[in-house]
Amino acid sequence: MNFQNEPVIAGRMQRKQTYGVTVKNGKNTVLIGQGAPVVVQSMTNTDTSDVEATARQVAELARAGSELVRLTVNTSEAAKAVPLIRDRLDSLGYDVPLAGDFHYNGHLLLTRFPDCARALSKYRINPGNVGQGAKKDAHFADMIAVACRYDKPVRIGVNWGSLDQGLLERLMNENAERRQPWPVQSVMYEALISSAIGSADRAVELGLGQDRIVLSCKVSGVQDLIAVYRELSRRCPYALHLGLTEAGVGSKGIVASVAALSVLLQEGIGDTIRISLTPGPGEARTKEIVVAQELLQTMGMRNFAPVVVSCPGCGRTSSGLFQKLANSTQDYLRAQMPLWKDRFPGVETMSVAVMGCIVNGPGESRHANIGISLPGNGELPAVPVFEDGEKKTTLRGENIEGQFQEIILKYVESHYGSKP
Ligand code: SF4
Repeated sequence: MNFQNEPVIAGRMQRKQTYGVTVKNGKNTVLIGQGAPVVVQSMTNTDTSDVEATARQVAELARAGSELVRLTVNTSEAAKAVPLIRDRLDSLGYDVPLAGDFHYNGHLLLTRFPDCARALSKYRINPGNVGQGAKKDAHFADMIAVACRYDKPVRIGVNWGSLDQGLLERLMNENAERRQPWPVQSVMYEALISSAIGSADRAVELGLGQDRIVLSCKVSGVQDLIAVYRELSRRCPYALHLGLTEAGVGSKGIVASVAALSVLLQEGIGDTIRISLTPGPGEARTKEIVVAQELLQTMGMRNFAPVVVSCPGCGRTSSGLFQKLANSTQDYLRAQMPLWKDRFPGVETMSVAVMGCIVNGPGESRHANIGISLPGNGELPAVPVFEDGEKKTTLRGENIEGQFQEIILKYVESHYGSKP
């Protein structure tokens, strides 16, 4: 085959068309699906009945960029706390919509605590955890009736760990009667997908609009998640929530989530994402937001904060200054974003290069909006800074970090400033 005349093109596929689901709190409207930018969401890990702690964590997640925050609603105390949390957030100026996560007793909590049902912007229903036999259908119908009454969207969230056992048993029996039975894993996939789509179709029969439904089928294996969502996306037009459940701790959790979600996003599948990380002791809950945003930004799907391009360093790197500068620049940019994003629209598309020596430093720095190339071993102690491809100045002396941040700030003010 002759490739000589073939252009090289980027490979991301068009977004799959899904129903658009609006999630509202006051004037804040978040659109999930219908080609809207992929929404970043997160979940609290506080005791929801603790109004102070939960409102504080929701505010922290919202400040970090969570566009929707889910909290567990598992007891009467938690249900009573929800409207108080909403009021607290509204009074502090945080209009991020709240989603309530219900299991087992959601039908009771949503009907007995109407203030909770009204204060939430979205309900998450797990069809595997709404009851057994005839009660299952009745409980599900009760929750959908509340969603219809208050015009709230729902996420029908099926989970590998709480799969509808009755449905699984039926599919296993049907499979056993096939002339060539499917592998057990395929029957499990089918059970997840059937549970989600069947429940959504039932909700529509009960009066909920198709544009009020988001679906998810969460599993903990990367290949399982990819297989399930490909099929789910092929078989239904509902907006899809992506997430690898029980992704794990540290780098394993991040890598597993990103590996699974990036394949699906690349194929145009997914309208909202959550990265389910187990925080390390003392680690901020907001890490999952940072990972979600960086995933979408590095894939070229959304921009949230200026990107720092930095080399890994090697034997040519002269000192710890390079590593320190790369990290402090990243931290500085992220810390400014709550202020900058309103004041300097477009700043989130800026790129900053921090490079360790002359080999790739000046070249990479010229590709970025702003670049700094530190001297490597044996190079003169001068630090050239580039702006928009041109050498702007040379820094010397002790406080390179502070001088560089001043240059970045001036660049931002002169290139993006349009609001007072
Ligand atoms: S730019 Fe220089 S310091 Fe950085 S990895 Fe390349 S050779 Fe090493």
